[in-house]
Amino acid sequence: MAGQSNNQKKKLGGCQNIKVVVRVRPFDEKESRGRSRMAVNCISPREIQTKDKKYYYDRVFQPDCNQLDIYSYVVEPMINDVLAGYNCTVFAYGQTGTGKTHTMTGGDPSSLSSLDWRRDEKAGCIPRAAANIFDEIASMKVNDYNVRVSFLELYNEEVRDLLNPDERQPPLNIFNDNKGAVFIQNLNEKNVFNSNDIYALLQQGTLRRQTASTLMNNHSSRSHTVFTITVHIKEADLSGEEVLKTGKINLVDLAGSENIAKSGAKDKRALELANINRSLLTLGRVIQTLTDKNNRHVPYRDSKLTRILQDSLGGHTKTCIIATVSPAYSSYEETQSTLEYAMRARDIKNTPMVNEK
Ligand code: ADP
Repeated sequence: MAGQSNNQKKKLGGCQNIKVVVRVRPFDEKESRGRSRMAVNCISPREIQTKDKKYYYDRVFQPDCNQLDIYSYVVEPMINDVLAGYNCTVFAYGQTGTGKTHTMTGGDPSSLSSLDWRRDEKAGCIPRAAANIFDEIASMKVNDYNVRVSFLELYNEEVRDLLNPDERQPPLNIFNDNKGAVFIQNLNEKNVFNSNDIYALLQQGTLRRQTASTLMNNHSSRSHTVFTITVHIKEADLSGEEVLKTGKINLVDLAGSENIAKSGAKDKRALELANINRSLLTLGRVIQTLTDKNNRHVPYRDSKLTRILQDSLGGHTKTCIIATVSPAYSSYEETQSTLEYAMRARDIKNTPMVNEK
């Protein structure tokens, strides 16, 4: 039984621990060939405008931003919290083809040797977080530490372990206790000793997901993946007594948001879409509820995704949604629906940019 410790130690008031950012990708080849016009205008670091509406977020990243810009704003500030024993989660949300996997993983993990990740500017949040965590630990005075990785896929409300080579593995069961601790039965949690070990697991799991995708058309756009790095640190506190801290970061690549509310699908496909609908909409509701300090009931149990992440959403945790959009008019409807979802998740007013990090 793989246990994930509950870190909901104390409630922090307000919504300063939830960030919502938007990343606009550059035009792709097809859009450039079709001479597509820009459907969105990034009018300030926090504002984006379409022909219909102006939206506000914690940050808007323009098409020319790079992987380091995103990492530095979203993930880097979380690493110290993870090492201090707290749980953090980053979600990539958006239409298929808008850069969720590029943002989370970057490049093509199957074609790069693990060492390249450190130098490759295409490296996404997962490899950068891996390197950052080990660099930080090396700079700390710790008595002992242990780092573990798990990598799961949630497809059609069934959990599959991407670090298990058995292609016929049965779906894994999730258990939550009444304090919010999460247990996923038989989920591998691999010990890792350096960032290259983490890249190697990312590559293995990604290849397994790609194989499933080839066997089942579009499988990857209809599944969520959760890559988790858990850090246990033993260090002396101010009185010299040894304390154990456990924190983790979940990096979540969500199913394509175009799957929401598609009509006309039948049978198996309709059920799949209903499940994606439920998980993405429940996630939005959970985050909205967490930002509203008057609302006591958080609907974690309404979807498997939020059940899996229950100990990392709310309480003393940090969360960020990266909403990815295409710049082109050809995707206008999907872009608008992503911008609406992201703005509803955290209703941000146009306030001055102070104390942002
Ligand atoms: P998604 O995961 O949302 O389906 P991908 O991450 O697979 O989308 O991106 C689709 C394609 O666009 C990939 O070839 C990817 O390399 C490219 N891409 C996405 N975002 C960017 C970006 N910000 N800069 C350069 N290329 C990008």
